Amino acid sequence: MARYKESTCRLCRREGIKLFLKGDRCYSDKCAVARRPYAPGQHGQVKKKLSEYGLQLREKQKARRIYGILERQFSNYFEKAERMKGVTGENLLILLERRLDNVVYRLGFADSRAQARMLVRQGHFTVNGQKVNIPSYLVRPGDVIAVREKSKESPLFKEIAAAAAHRTVPAWLKADPAALEGHVLALPTREQIDVPVQEHLIVELYSK
Ligand code: SF4
Repeated sequence: MARYKESTCRLCRREGIKLFLKGDRCYSDKCAVARRPYAPGQHGQVKKKLSEYGLQLREKQKARRIYGILERQFSNYFEKAERMKGVTGENLLILLERRLDNVVYRLGFADSRAQARMLVRQGHFTVNGQKVNIPSYLVRPGDVIAVREKSKESPLFKEIAAAAAHRTVPAWLKADPAALEGHVLALPTREQIDVPVQEHLIVELYSK
C-alpha cells in the first residue's frame, strides 16, 4: 500500500503544531517543531495569511496526517460520515478513531499510530479472538483487542506491556496492560477525541 515517504517531522512543521507522529521523540527536545517552529522549505519562515480555502485545506491535511491516511481513503471516510446519522464532522472523527491501528495506539500498545499500523499489519493482534491484520478495521463496542499469545512472549511486547501500564487511556476504551488486552466500551464522543482538528472546516472543504 502507498504511504507517505518523506520526513515525518516535516508534516508537523508544515501544520505548525506537534502531531505526535514519532512516539517518545515527540516529547523530547529533539522534536523538530520545538527546534524549528516554522514551515519547511526555502520560504518557510515567511508568514503568509491563508485564504478560507487554505485554512480548510490545512485542516484536512492535519487530520489526514494525524491518522496517517492517504487522500483517497480519507475522502472515502468523509463519504461514509456523510451517509451516517448525526453531525458529519463528528462522524468523520469517530470513524477515524475506530480504526484498529488508532485503537492499538490509544490503548498504549504502540508508541505512535505508525508503529501501531506496522504491528497490526504484521499480525500481532486479534479482535474477539480472531487474527486481524488490517489497520483500517473498524472496531465496535464490545470488541476485545488483544496481542496474540505467541507475540506476548517477545521482548518487544514485554517492553510495550511495561510502558502501557503508565499510559492514560480514553474513557471509551479499557486497557489491561498486563494481559496486553483492551476492550471497546463504547463509541467515542467528540469530547473524548483529543485531536486538534476543527472538523467543520473539513466539512466545508468537501461541501464546495
Ligand atoms: Fe512531530 Fe514528533 Fe517530529 Fe515533533 S518529533 S515534529 S511532534 S513527529
